[in-house]
Amino acid sequence: MPTLYLNNKVISFKQDQTILEMELAIEDHPLDDATPIIVRDYSRCIGCGRCLQACNEIQVNAAIRAPHGSRQDHPQGWYPLVDYEHCTHCGQCLQACPVGALFEKKAYGELIGNEARKIRTTCPYCGVGCQHWLHVKENKVIKVTGVEQAEPNYGRLCVKGRFGYDFIHSAERLTHPLIRDGEHFRKASWDEAPDLVAIKFRKIKEMHGHDALAGISCARSINEDAYNMQKLFRAVIGTNNIDHCARTCHAPTVAGLARSFGSGAMTNSFAEFAQSKLGLGSNFAHSWH
Ligand code: SF4
Ligand code: SF4
Repeated sequence: MPTLYLNNKVISFKQDQTILEMELAIEDHPLDDATPIIVRDYSRCIGCGRCLQACNEIQVNAAIRAPHGSRQDHPQGWYPLVDYEHCTHCGQCLQACPVGALFEKKAYGELIGNEARKIRTTCPYCGVGCQHWLHVKENKVIKVTGVEQAEPNYGRLCVKGRFGYDFIHSAERLTHPLIRDGEHFRKASWDEAPDLVAIKFRKIKEMHGHDALAGISCARSINEDAYNMQKLFRAVIGTNNIDHCARTCHAPTVAGLARSFGSGAMTNSFAEFAQSKLGLGSNFAHSWH
């Protein structure tokens, strides 16, 4: 008679898979609700260890440690607990968990049934371009997961990509231009706002010259918009005062890479690390501890 051991549950089957007997221990598994984004319900855990592998081998955060010894040594239940000192809240463990023991707090109760459809897109946060599945229900994004079979992330996501989508449906999101009117802002149309900017720019240029104006392009813009922004400032306004906000956060990296490799950009992709024979200046085995 096949018998299955799932945590404190002992389930016996007949040949036709009918459940013959099921012993359920008292539900004393912890419910870890300590973080604002992840819930861990260990009463559902089947002890597969996938979260452990996702955390240690895929994201290399080493935040989930395996319980020591065999399952018999843990009559209270074998489940991997999280060390929040190391957890980056990337959520890779959630994506790996096959039984929903780990789940997104924001999606709790939303995914009952199969009503959500999946839409593939690119993460809007940085230039890595991680591939997303948006889980959409009634035109609302209720959850984000990484696309497993696609470059560059192969299912991995960081905390921003996986959980930072509230702005999409935020009631505070700006959906129209605002023009300052004394101490307050007033709503303006998409025709009025750019016209006002053009009038003010022309006035500043006439009074103080073209170099009195400067532009900073946004890292959230696509390449084509960043290109148009520098064209606007160089060709239309006539100044070289044009920069990009990446100078603030990436200037040291660019300078360091340029000095070391002759180019201020990554020389290889992440995936190519697997084929590298030598790593200089970094101890991969220790850097994640
Ligand atoms: S959220 Fe990420 S870092 Fe935290 S335990 Fe899960 S896999 Fe590890
Ligand atoms: S992936 Fe889920 S079921 Fe598997 S050990 Fe982790 S919490 Fe338990």
